Amino acid sequence: MSGNDLFPLAMMAIILIGVGVYVSQPLIRARSEDIFHDDYSESPMHELLSKKDSVYTEMKDLEFDYSTGKLSEFDYEDLKAKYSGRAAEVLKEIDDLEASASDESKKEDESKKEDQSFCSACGFKLQEGDRFCQSCGAGAP
Ligand SMILES: [Zn+2]
Repeated sequence: MSGNDLFPLAMMAIILIGVGVYVSQPLIRARSEDIFHDDYSESPMHELLSKKDSVYTEMKDLEFDYSTGKLSEFDYEDLKAKYSGRAAEVLKEIDDLEASASDESKKEDESKKEDQSFCSACGFKLQEGDRFCQSCGAGAP
């Protein structure tokens, strides 16, 4: 009977899956570290830069739609004006943020002088005498 022939095949499949998981583990780990790193660098600037990218992508799509005849010239001009307005807004926000970022680092220096501490786990500002972070519950330093 051919039923016995299936057994070695099933074994092979299990071994292959096992090897596959084993081999890909460092990759999966590296990728989750990347995700963690992305989360960590999640900042207003990061957000604005991705907003800028998406506006530019939309503009490219718009050009494409127009060139393939999906959009009328009227719609194209209308949307193009909207998108370039949004792009200009995002660029201005990035400029503003860059300007305020240098202010913020000055503020941070000042707060150090006032002997304020921040949670090492989540960055929440700790009040004087706090033994635990009020935001995440981690022990205060
Ligand atoms: Zn905390």
